[in-house]
Formats: sequence, structure tokens, C-alpha cells
Amino acid sequence: MEIKKGIGVSPGIVISTAVVLDAENLVIPQRRIDPARTDEEVKRLEHAFAAGVEDLTKLRNETTAAHGKEIGGIFDFHLGILRDKSITKQIVKEIKEQHSTAEYAVSTVMRRYAHQFTAMKDRYLSERVKDIHDIERRVLKLLIGAKHEDLGHLTQSVVVIAHDLLPSQTAALDRVHVKGFATDAGGRTSHTAIVARAMGIPAVVGLGDLTAEVSGGDTIIIDGNRGVVIINPDEEQLAEHREFEKKLVKLEAELTTIRDLPAQTLDGHSVSLQANIEFPEEIPDALRRGASGIGLYRTEFLYLASPTEPTEDDHYKAYVESLKLLAGRPLVLRTLDLGADKYTQEKAAQPERNPFLGDRSIRMCLHDIPMFKRQLRAIMRASVLGDVRIMFPMISTLMELRQAKMVLNDVMEELEDEGLPFRREISTGIMVEVPSVAMMPNEFAKEVNFFSIGTNDLIQYTLAVDRTNEKVAGLFSPAHPAVLRLIRDVIRAGTRNSIAVSVCGEMAGEPLYTLLLLGLGLTIFSMNGPDIPEVKKIIRSTTMEHAKQVARRVMSFDSERQVMHFLREETRKIIPEAF
Ligand code: PEP
Ligand code: MG
Repeated sequence: MEIKKGIGVSPGIVISTAVVLDAENLVIPQRRIDPARTDEEVKRLEHAFAAGVEDLTKLRNETTAAHGKEIGGIFDFHLGILRDKSITKQIVKEIKEQHSTAEYAVSTVMRRYAHQFTAMKDRYLSERVKDIHDIERRVLKLLIGAKHEDLGHLTQSVVVIAHDLLPSQTAALDRVHVKGFATDAGGRTSHTAIVARAMGIPAVVGLGDLTAEVSGGDTIIIDGNRGVVIINPDEEQLAEHREFEKKLVKLEAELTTIRDLPAQTLDGHSVSLQANIEFPEEIPDALRRGASGIGLYRTEFLYLASPTEPTEDDHYKAYVESLKLLAGRPLVLRTLDLGADKYTQEKAAQPERNPFLGDRSIRMCLHDIPMFKRQLRAIMRASVLGDVRIMFPMISTLMELRQAKMVLNDVMEELEDEGLPFRREISTGIMVEVPSVAMMPNEFAKEVNFFSIGTNDLIQYTLAVDRTNEKVAGLFSPAHPAVLRLIRDVIRAGTRNSIAVSVCGEMAGEPLYTLLLLGLGLTIFSMNGPDIPEVKKIIRSTTMEHAKQVARRVMSFDSERQVMHFLREETRKIIPEAF
């Protein structure tokens, strides 16, 4: 058994079998075989080893010829391992005694072996771990060969273990069979984590070297609440987690009972709780959780989920479907926010140096007007079918906003010429997620109908912390007083200029910040659907007066720790079981 601590990014507990995705997406879902098949499995193993020796010998000879004996000699170490009888013996033993598949036996023994090397003090020897993983991969590839399984053809429930998952890969996960995931890389507000929360499956990221420790077929507990992953748990751990799992299911059932009650404080102040989505299919679930509309539709997922560029009609169909499902409730369509950690497969092949500061989002759209117009045309065509609002992401200057609005105007003129109906008075807003906007909100407020504060990016850009980098995840915090001051000022500017302000970053769905945001005067919270009931419970358990007092006190603090400590205490006072 091994317990690993990472960052819990999507709550819930799951106990299931691991499939490990490495860089080449090799999957070993099956761990055990019928005992009658062990001889067959040993034969498969011998063939794979023989083929491995053949391939490696060829590779060594070619490398030696091209680069000299020293470089070619690297593969002698690989060959030595494949020819090492003690290793083959251990693998065969694993197949015969544990009735393991050849793949699982190779993976288990090789990883055990790699572990011994990691522990070695000698730098040269500890570096050999990478070589062992390399050999493991080589043999696995040979074994899996034609019967290469991918995540698209799962037949049993699994948890996915990967070095990293692209948001598009996460979104494409088979929702019936994938019950959770855990990755080496990533942070709380990486889009992969956001998608996991939206899917409602437990996930832990930032685990460092998890993929090196887990073999496909291992039993894994993913505890998304505590940010823990347990590899091959013992009976005690299993029992404890099964118990915890039951409690969570009960809590969830309790929360759904408040679904149809208004999001109103004890002294009668109402707020709107809306949902963030990536796909229209998430809308029914969001409504079930009590969402009063969609405060953020991340439309770029249309690009991420498809190998080809969506057409105007693809956009239109997705928006019409959403509006039908929403039956008159508001739908905030955010225009494409591609780039940074959301690349199409094609773009991912040519990475930028600092993608979060690069050609991202509205910048990319203004560099590719035909692509931008395709989407705007679809939005405007759909605007007559429901309460559609447009939101431009990552605006950093007034000029950018004006340019975006100019393109929108062009689109309206085109539609008019073509005789197609649209709503000219469409509500238009921006994401406030770059400090340059949050620091001059009054000027921006005069040119838009609403603000939506994107705390995920606002925190990242204010605190200089890459939201996807697990190494600095500890520095990423909504509670930093500098971030809080920006949020306060943006809400104030909204009130002063009579425009609506929402928060649609992850902070809006974190119960720890509900009292504070309410007290700062926020009236629209947009979050992942599963977070709505708990936030509503807090709102219904407090008064506006209390929330304002909390906010005043919080704004007097100069450290993130004080803020977190105080908010935890205050929230526990009204909901003792919180956190
Ligand atoms: C944000 O930045 O807070 C936000 C809501 O947008 P995204 O997470 O898609 O960047
Ligand atoms: Mg953002």
C-alpha cells in the first residue's frame, strides 16, 4: 500500500481499478486471467522479450554506427535487463502464482525494480530508473501490440492515472466507465480539473510521480476531498473509505433537498446561482442542482472535442440546443477562449513559450477574424431564440473591447443584409480576469452591460502563479488581500455604474468564500453545477448584515492566512459540518 498526497480538485471518493496512460497512451485494464491461461500468458511474455531483444540489438547497432560505441552502449543496459534471467523469473512467477496478465506482471515487476534503483544513493544508478521505465514501455508496447486498448473502448469501471490530461482528453473521457482520475501534473484551476468537477467525478492532480508508482490493474482509492490517492489499499483503508463514501452520498442527498428553495439570505436578500458548462449536455444536470441559468458557457470546448474546426452551423446547433434546454433562463456565451492550456490537437504541436501570456483568447480571435465571425454569426442567429448574452474573455485594454464590439457590429450588418433575424440589443459583457481591467473598472463599466470576474485567471495574473503548475500551487489563492481588493473594486464599480457583476471563477463555488462574496455585494455566482447546493445552503443560513460584517473584517487583514482562518471560523459558526 502507498499513500500519495496531491491537490484534490474534484470531490468524492472512488475505489476502482487503474488504467495508466503514459505518454503513448498504453492502457492495461486487465489485471488477472483465468488460471488455465497462465502457460499461454508466459508464451506471450517470452515472445515479447525475444522481440524486444531483437529490436534493441538492431537499435544498438544502428546507434553505434551513427554516433559511436559510447552512445550505442546505452542500449546494452536495456539489453542486459531483458536478458536478465532473474527478472524474467520474477515476471513468470507473478503470472503463475498471481494469475496476472503478462502486461500486469511486467509492469509490477519492472516498477518494483525501478523502485530499488530510485532508492540508490549513487546518482548514476538512480538515473537508470528512466531506462527501466523505457524498457517497461517497450515490452508493454510489444505485448499490447494489435490489441492496443484505448480509453474509447472501456468495458469496465476504471480510474484513469496519467502524467497529465489535456482538457480535451478529459472532456472526451467515457463518462459511463471512468469513475475518477489522478495525474502527476496540474493545479486546482487547470481546465482539466474544472472539467472533472463539471463531470462530477473525483479527481486529484499534482501528485508528482504517481504514474511511476501505479501499474495498470492496481486497485486505487481516489479521495478528491482530501487530495489523497492510495495505491493497493489494505483492508482497513478500504473499509474506512467505503464508510466515507457512504457519508458523502448521504450528504449529497441532503443537499439536493434544498434545490428548489430560493438562494435567499435569512433577511430576504436574493442572489442568483448559475452554472458553468463546457457542453450543452451538462445543462440538465446543472438545472437539477438548482442553477437559475448558465453564467459561463466555455464555448471553446466545441473546438477541443472535435478533430476539425467547427462550422458556423456546428456553433449554432450547440447554442440552439442549450437554449431549448434552458427554456428561457439566461445563457452567457463566452466567445472562444482558446490558447494557454486549451489548445486544439493541431496547435498543441507548436507550443508557445509563455502560452498564458501569449496569443490566447480574445487576442487569438482578433488575429483570426473569419474564425471569430463564424462564432459571432452563430450567436447572433441564436439570439432570437432565448436569453442569450455575449461575453468577451481576457480583455486587457479598452481598444481590444472596442475592436471586438466592432467585429460584432460588422456581423450584425452582414446578417441584416442577408435578411436573417437577430437581437440587436443583445447584452454584451466582459470577463474581468486581467489586472489591467480590474484596476480601472469604471472606464470599462461604461462600455459594457455586465462584468464577470474570472478569478482563476485574475489570481494567476495578479500573483504571478501559473494556474496549471503543481510546483507553485501553494501560492495560488483567492484569499490574497491583493486579489480581494481587486474583486471588491470591480463589484463596487459595477454597482456604481448600474451593471451586473458576477464571479464565474472557481472561487464562486468554494463555500469558504460565499460569505465574503455575498458581503462584498456580489449578486450572481456562477459555478460548477455540483457546487450549487452547498453554496446555497450557506446563503440561506446567514443574513446580509452578517455577510457584510465578515467582508469588512476580511478586508482589514493583510495576509492570506488570516483571511482563510477567519472565513473558516465564520462559516463553521453557521454550518458546523462545513469543511
Ligand atoms: C476564470 O479565468 O476565472 C474563468 C472562469 O475562465 P477560465 O477558467 O475558463 O479561464
Ligand atoms: Mg479565464
